[in-house]
Amino acid sequence: MSKQENTENKKFSIWDLPDVPMGQLPPHLQLQRTRVVCKADAPIHTDNIIYSGAYASMGIDNSVHLGSFRDNFKVEVIRLTKDDMEFDMIGIDAAIANSFRRILISELPTMAIEKVLIANNTSLIQDEVLSHRLGLIPISADPRLFEYLSANDTPNEKNTIVFKLHVRCKRGEPRRTVYSEELKWLPNGSEFIKESEKVDTKPSTYTSFTCSQDSLQNSSSKPIGPAEDKIILAKLGPGQEIELEAHAVKGIGKTHAKWSPVATAWYRMLPEVVLLEDVEDETAEELKKKCPVNVFDIEDIGNGKKRATVARPRACTLCRECIRGEEWDKRVALRRVKDHFIFTIESAGALPPEVLFPEAVKILEDKCERVITELS
Ligand code: SF4
Repeated sequence: MSKQENTENKKFSIWDLPDVPMGQLPPHLQLQRTRVVCKADAPIHTDNIIYSGAYASMGIDNSVHLGSFRDNFKVEVIRLTKDDMEFDMIGIDAAIANSFRRILISELPTMAIEKVLIANNTSLIQDEVLSHRLGLIPISADPRLFEYLSANDTPNEKNTIVFKLHVRCKRGEPRRTVYSEELKWLPNGSEFIKESEKVDTKPSTYTSFTCSQDSLQNSSSKPIGPAEDKIILAKLGPGQEIELEAHAVKGIGKTHAKWSPVATAWYRMLPEVVLLEDVEDETAEELKKKCPVNVFDIEDIGNGKKRATVARPRACTLCRECIRGEEWDKRVALRRVKDHFIFTIESAGALPPEVLFPEAVKILEDKCERVITELS
């Protein structure tokens, strides 16, 4: 049957249009669905199209299937150091990527100094300022080994870590700086004796440890203590002294930022830089110069001619310099891939970054289970 006969015999429908292939989205809708397009003044298509029937009229099922999510989801570690990690999360929705970020910042527990018992402080720094400063020191201790201390609990080896600081600058000596490394961990708990009105009672301390916390650690792990040695706590002049005990407990960043395990956790969508036409010779040189982060290179195409290429799109910060000015937006298109996230975690020091992310996943999993239980 000829095409002519076919169109005559059938009722006209959108599927007969030559520019809309059956079961596929036309390119402009596919772009809108998968990319944020960065125009010179503002980005467009920033929202995610999540409605399952959004493209039903074109025969496209836009619903989320667990199987296809499993098949397409990928995590690729790009950089891993002691303190930070950069990895790509591919095939995930922005809402889920953002939930990981929020959990990392505010719901993953760490140990931080919460209570400071000051026996003596003749330095210039006030007690409350010193206590606040101590609270902000990242503590290297695995929070998974400890329990939360509630108001009615007695501080014990499972919920409290005790540090002691006793520093003095003797008369006649030069001024000295007190660093975090001088906080000494007391694995057997507090050494300060509680004052008691009853004279005949056995003296007690501010904690009730039944065993040493040494047993909590395995031999390969870093000993409990400040994550960094050279954090300045105070400066002492001749004759000045500080004696205190600092009690660290388990908490989360939602309560106070001192418990946040990350200095920062952030993500950006993968940038995509596309040359819409051949950019050659002086125009290519101009384009290369426009980019502050060196995204473009120039290649020799023979006969003394040169052409611009996109060499390092990942480095693009979407500053939009390359599309500013007349006609430039017709040569270069700037986009972001909606389901590809470049995730960066900077650990504050309590746990390594490669441990933080799986812990965040566990917390999200627990939350989902709680919702399912509530609904069922
Ligand atoms: S948007 Fe900025 S960083 Fe990205 S390619 Fe253009 S000039 Fe370079």
